[in-house]
This record gives sequence, structure tokens and C-alpha cells, in this order.
Amino acid sequence: MQHIDQIYIDGVFVTPHGTEWFDLYNPSTEQVIGRVRLADEHDARDAIAAATRAFPAFSRTSKAERIALLHRMADAVEARQPALLDAIVEEYGAPVSRAGWMAAHASSVLREAAKVLHDYAFVRQMGTAQVVMQPLGVAGLITPWNSDAGFICGKLAAAIAAGCTAVIKPSEMSAIQTRIVTQALHEAGLPAGVFNIVTGRGETVGAEISTHPGVAKISFTGSTAVGKTILRAGAGTLKRVTLELGGKSPMLILDDADFATAVPLAIQAGFMNSGQACIAGTRILVPEARLDEFERRVKIEVGRTKAGDPRDPEIAIGPMVSQKQWDRVQRYIRIGIDEGARLIAGGEGRPEGIEAGWFVRPTVFSGVHNDMTVAREEIFGPVLSIITYRDTEEAIAIANDTAYGLQAYVVSADAQRAHAVAARLDAGRVLVNTLAHEPAAPFGGFKQSGIGREYGTFGLEAFLEPKAILGVS
Ligand code: NAD
Repeated sequence: MQHIDQIYIDGVFVTPHGTEWFDLYNPSTEQVIGRVRLADEHDARDAIAAATRAFPAFSRTSKAERIALLHRMADAVEARQPALLDAIVEEYGAPVSRAGWMAAHASSVLREAAKVLHDYAFVRQMGTAQVVMQPLGVAGLITPWNSDAGFICGKLAAAIAAGCTAVIKPSEMSAIQTRIVTQALHEAGLPAGVFNIVTGRGETVGAEISTHPGVAKISFTGSTAVGKTILRAGAGTLKRVTLELGGKSPMLILDDADFATAVPLAIQAGFMNSGQACIAGTRILVPEARLDEFERRVKIEVGRTKAGDPRDPEIAIGPMVSQKQWDRVQRYIRIGIDEGARLIAGGEGRPEGIEAGWFVRPTVFSGVHNDMTVAREEIFGPVLSIITYRDTEEAIAIANDTAYGLQAYVVSADAQRAHAVAARLDAGRVLVNTLAHEPAAPFGGFKQSGIGREYGTFGLEAFLEPKAILGVS
């Protein structure tokens, strides 16, 4: 039983002013595995004050100093990788294969940021002006539960690289993972106040960070609904915002695709992170003429995709993170059935033989129209929709007919053709015949999938403001 009763402000672990205790669960067993004492608005203000005090000196540190810090942070997080992996599996329920990637990602984002910083020119000549990229100030970093360590380290890496100081508000549901990351980052020995971590509720700590005049920038990853609340809250003080929100990503299977590779790729993209991924390819667009063949292969592939104990290396799909998330996924499966979609795999309830834990059956609907609820709303669980199209024009139209625009996938035997389709998709990233991540490239959404970009140079510039100085020869 973990007992977490400290937050991190001004370089030290302190007892929060907040007095609410929150239960932490193992989603595979539904057992309470810990309790966390939550921070409140008072703690958020203390953290913002510490970050504000640290900013003037930190914003003037050299590139070399910050690169060295980022590497120290990466080393410290890397050293905690085994503990982090265990916590990800226990507290979040990610299958070990996924959890391993997540634990490694937390340190690699810090090293990537160091690389970007190394190559970045903070001062440029534009016409007669010298343009200086200046750090924005105190950054509020608000993160979700579906990749706690990766989001904390990724956002902090960009803020530090830019010369900003930070107040981080992770999800209250990920306190065990957050404690491991906080201890690691503390060991990296950053100046006091440069980063502060206050685990608390969104409506209290998150709301304080989004309205406080001392915060210049918010970088948020989470649901579109909360993203809109934060945008409104930050408008009062015109905060700069980066919002990484939800998705309903299309997986376009072009009519020349080899289904032997396309189907496993589509299933992997749809069920990644147990379906709790903003970039999951949840709308699978299949040529009408080849639907039977596609469905046949999907049934076989899903049959091989096991849900269950995330510690078992054979398992591809772990539990949903909470009872609430389990209920939500069940509700969407019911809606799909009620709206007339045809179940070709999975369905309501738990997978066979599993009595406890927030496990759902890997589910695929076919005969889905793009205007059905399951095709329009983000489910955030392993529930996929197959939608047919007649020709490539219609496929592109369906792919773009969504409120979201985070990621899209194109699968084709002809790379040139796939690229031509990719050029016409409204999505922040289009992956052609691959599921690989590219940390140097921008990541973020069109439309209601967000505002701004993370990673690479775009991610760094999200924490900088250009200043033009004229009249200096
Ligand atoms: P969420 O929006 O409920 O919560 C995210 C964070 O915001 C949490 O820390 C929460 O406490 C905080 N929060 C809640 N209300 C707030 C408020 N009023 N003011 C400030 N902060 C508040 O999201 P979640 O359920 O933790 O995560 C799932 C969602 O995240 C999904 O919609 C998913 O698509 C999205 N997501 C997006 C990306 C991306 O990069 N685009 C990545 C992962 C997850």
C-alpha cells in the first residue's frame, strides 16, 4: 500500500496544504493500492510563486547549461526505468511491452529536447532587425493519466530547453508514477523552483494554474472538453496555450493494399495503449469491394489479440484505467449495437474467463456509417469501426469528415499514391505504411484535436516569444 503525502515545491518535498485523500487503484484487480494527499489552490499558488522567483535567473542560463541539465534529468529518469515500468503496469495497467516503451520514452524525450536545443538559433537577423527568441515565463503543464511520465518529461523538457520555469499538474490518478519521476528529477539537481509538481484535482489546482496571472503559458494534454475550459480560463490573462486533445483518427486502407500486412497494422494502430490513445486509428476505411476479405482477416487478427493480465508478455490489451472508463467503453459498445452497427469481434462485458479488473473485449464494428456515434466520438478504449468507401475521393472525404484532426494513417502498396492521399488529409500527422514515431517532427492536431505543436523545433518555440530589436547595426 503506497502512501503519498508530499508534493514538490521550490526544490523540496513538502506536505500539501490540501487535505483531501484520493484512492489509487490497480485496474487489473480493482484493488486500492495506495492513497495520495492532494494539493489544493493554495499549493498551486505556492508553486507558481516558486517558479516565478526562479525564472529571472533561469531564463538567462546558457544553452550549454540547459543541455547539461536535460542530460542529467534524462540520466536520472533512465536510472528509475525499472521502477517506472512496474508502476506503469500496476497503476495504469499497460501491457509490459507497451509499458517498457513508455518508461524508456520518459528519458528519451529529455535527450531529444537537448538535441533540438543544441541546434536551435535563439537569435536571427531578419531584414534590419535582430530577432531574439525569449522564454515566455512560468509555464503550467497539465497532463493526463494515459502516459504520465512521458507527458511530464516531454512538456518539462521543452519548457526547460526554452528557459521557462514550470508548475506541473499531473493526473491525480497517476500519483505513484509521478512520485518516481519527481524523485528522479529532484536528483538531477535543478535550481530550486525551476520545476514544481503539484498533484491535485483539475477543478482546483488545474483551474488555479489556468487563471493565475503569474502563469504565461499553458501546455495541456487531455480531453477536448477540458481543453476548451482551459482555453476560456486562460483568456482572461491571454495565456499562450498548447492544447493536445482528443482524436478519431482514420486508417485509410487503399484498394491496392496487401491485407496480410494492412490488417495487423490497422489492429495495432486501433488497439494501441489498450485503446486509450489519442492517436489510435479508430475509424478503419476499407474499399467496399474488398470488405469480406478484410473482415475475415480482422476476425483472425483480433482472435490473436489477447486482453488480460498486463504482466503477461503475450497480452496486447490491458484493463481500462478506471471503473468510469470501463463504464464509458461499455456505453459506447451498447450505442454502436443500438445504432445498427454490426459486431464482428468482441462486444459488451469482460473477456471470457476474466472475473475482475476493468478489462473490456477487443471490439470491432463493421457496417458503420461515419455519422454514427461510434464513428464520431472518441471512445478511448479498444473499440474500432470499419467504414466502407467506393473510391479514393470518398475515402478522403470520410477521413476528413470529423471534428478531430490529430493523426491519420494511409496503407497502400504504392508509396507515391499514399503520399498524394496524405497531402489531402486534415491531420497533424499522417503515417504512411508505418506506426513509427518521429520525435524531430511536430505533433499536434488540426481542428478540435488541439492548438499548437509539441516535439522538435515547433515544440520548443511553443515556449518562446519572438522579440524584434531594430536600429542596431
Ligand atoms: P482530462 O481532460 O480529463 O484530464 C487531463 C488533465 O486535466 C488531468 O490532469 C485533469 O486533472 C486536468 N483537468 C481536469 N479538469 C480541469 C480543469 N477544469 N482545469 C484544468 N485542468 C483540468 O483527460 P484524461 O481523461 O486524463 O485523458 C484522456 C484524454 O486525453 C483523451 O481525450 C485523450 O484523447 C486525451 N489525450 C490527448 C493526447 C494528445 O497528445 N493529443 C494524448 C493523450 C491523451
